[in-house]
Amino acid sequence: MQLIFLGPPGAGKGTQAKIFLDRAGIIQISTGDILRAAVAKGTELGKQAKAFMDKGELVPDSVVIGIIEQRIQEPDCKKGFVLDGFPRTIEQAEALDAILAKLNIALDHVVNFEVPDEELVQRLLGRAAQEGRSDDNPDSIKNRLQIFKDKTQPLIRYYEGKKILRHINGTGSTTEIADKVKAVVGV
Ligand code: AMP
Repeated sequence: MQLIFLGPPGAGKGTQAKIFLDRAGIIQISTGDILRAAVAKGTELGKQAKAFMDKGELVPDSVVIGIIEQRIQEPDCKKGFVLDGFPRTIEQAEALDAILAKLNIALDHVVNFEVPDEELVQRLLGRAAQEGRSDDNPDSIKNRLQIFKDKTQPLIRYYEGKKILRHINGTGSTTEIADKVKAVVGV
């Protein structure tokens, strides 16, 4: 099964992808996690990405598309995957379609997590205190939410058009949200 978890920063995509892995054995691919690991290691990719990430801006499409193209061809993706935080632009979504078509893989569902802005900001500030992510500061958060509206929200229409979009109210407890995911994807 191939899924996309779509939604603004702080919507709970990563948390739900981890729960889904425990429940269904389907791995999570988070471009944010891959980029943060590259920054921590100080690789060339990490050096390129860090400035964008700290400001809350998107890393260039070509970079993240390259990461995904390689990652989904690794053996642990055979059973399927949940894309968490990718695609974030129409260009990324179109590139993903082309990569999946080439590999003869279909997307089953795109789960759209809806959470009001005020709650997102509270969650992100809470995460900043707990995890110390360098991009969870007020300026970067504001920027990330705006970029989501400008660049990522158009993907809702894009996937609606493909009839694979499922909406979820992303408020409530982690378990309640996990149950909603289960209800729409069937596992
Ligand atoms: P996330 O953990 O998904 O919130 O991502 C953290 C940061 O990594 C984002 O604010 C971007 O700077 C970068 N990033 C992650 N995924 C992407 C993507 N698909 N396209 C561009 N930048 C990304």
